[in-house]
Amino acid sequence: MDPIVIVGGDAAGMSAASKFKRERPEREVVVFERGEYVSYAACGMPYYVKGAVDSLDDLVTVTPEAFVEERGIDLRLHHEVVELRPDKHEVVVEGPEGRLTQPYDQLLVATGAHAVVPPFEGMDLDGVFTMHSLPEADAVRDYLAFEEPETVGVVGGGYIGIEMAEAFREHDVEVHVFEMLPHVMAPFGETVAEAVEEELRRQGVHLHLDTAVERFVGDDSVTGIDVGGAVYDVELALVGVGVAPNTDLAASAGIELGETGAVATDEYGRTSRSGVFAAGDVAEARHAVTGEPDHVPLALTANRAGRAIGQTMAGDETPVGEIAGTAVVKAFDLTAARTGVIDEEQARGAGFDPVSVTITASSRAHYYPGAEELTITMLGDRVSGRVLGATMVGREGVAKRIDTVAVALHEGATAEELSYYDLAYAPPFSPVWDPVLTAAKVLDGKLG
Ligand SMILES: Cc1cc2nc3c(=O)[nH]c(=O)nc-3n(C[C@H](O)[C@H](O)[C@H](O)COP(=O)(O)OP(=O)(O)OC[C@H]3O[C@@H](n4cnc5c(N)ncnc54)[C@H](O)[C@@H]3O)c2cc1C
Repeated sequence: MDPIVIVGGDAAGMSAASKFKRERPEREVVVFERGEYVSYAACGMPYYVKGAVDSLDDLVTVTPEAFVEERGIDLRLHHEVVELRPDKHEVVVEGPEGRLTQPYDQLLVATGAHAVVPPFEGMDLDGVFTMHSLPEADAVRDYLAFEEPETVGVVGGGYIGIEMAEAFREHDVEVHVFEMLPHVMAPFGETVAEAVEEELRRQGVHLHLDTAVERFVGDDSVTGIDVGGAVYDVELALVGVGVAPNTDLAASAGIELGETGAVATDEYGRTSRSGVFAAGDVAEARHAVTGEPDHVPLALTANRAGRAIGQTMAGDETPVGEIAGTAVVKAFDLTAARTGVIDEEQARGAGFDPVSVTITASSRAHYYPGAEELTITMLGDRVSGRVLGATMVGREGVAKRIDTVAVALHEGATAEELSYYDLAYAPPFSPVWDPVLTAAKVLDGKLG
């Protein structure tokens, strides 16, 4: 029988390969990875640049050698798949030994996403970086060490931009963040954004909102960022304006894309072509609240879907699971988090009648030292009483509280039900009514 073939050797691809091989050790699994790293934690790159993580190797979860020797996976580094031929059940690959054709029994497309490169003049100048691969993280850290820039410009106030602003400030450089929208971190809503903006300013970051970058200035190396009307001097620029799924391969093979632009998949990760699956940043997944396909490129989604598809390919059909868009970000001393549908317009578009409440509560019992304020915005549906989503921001206790709401979303819980969840309490960790319970209670009251 032909092998299982996987394109892309990171979170989704290696999870699938490992799971399949565990289930069916007698079968052959071939993974093609065009780079030199597999199973790496891109999420850790800002902390590598910051210096909190010493070595790039620390970001590699399982080494290529371990995949080959311990897990028996036929892993081919520096091999780029250049064509999928679903009709013939084969892929065309370019590697160090030239071009080859590889037949497959079942195929997983796990090609991930890429950093969006805006069409700015000067993107090719030395000192202008995106942040999507380990070599890029290494290049930024080297540039900081050897060129010793005094001023850095971060283009884009999304979560990668904010994490990188913190990383740069750790090196004692001046940091400018340019965001074309009125607020940073748009998917987290205005309350969170305003708190993060205040924190950025408190940490000495120069924040330029409503400011669209037009081009980078410089001869060989970047020396400035032109925002149309003003040029800010910078000696390093980090562009973090979003990611887009790597769909070219799939699209040219006639595999259907969804409305989000990512590969359309069913609940088992199957694409429109027989025997071809897609998972991770390249693929859509069903949203737990709206029930609609969505594209939220995050690590757990990729790991989970890869693992489930490995199991399905081994003969045990396993759904890839729904997503709630649950995310948490460290913004200097603040934690910002979100889950579900938090935008009223989006909620209305999905057929809900949204009502929202915002509460501020204490992270610990009010008498216990070290308590911090925590702000929660929670959205519910007036018709069903269901919780639709929440955002949270504060200096402690945010990261795991958002997960409580995420669980409620997966359960389809109403605000009333969530307000009666039996959550843990002791004074150093929460008030007796945890802020999540309080927010749900207030929301329930408003839903009527
Ligand atoms: C800076 C940064 C910070 C992040 N922080 C977080 C975080 O805190 N939390 C979180 O949940 N997520 C975070 N993410 C997102 C997370 O890293 C991704 O969701 C996850 O890596 C997706 O895994 P994947 O396997 O789908 O794709 P990828 O990790 O993109 O891997 C795809 C692989 O496919 C290979 N490939 C592509 N095309 C081909 C081809 N034609 N032939 C062979 N190989 C190919 C690529 O080289 C790549 O190795 C972060 C991402 C970045 C960049």
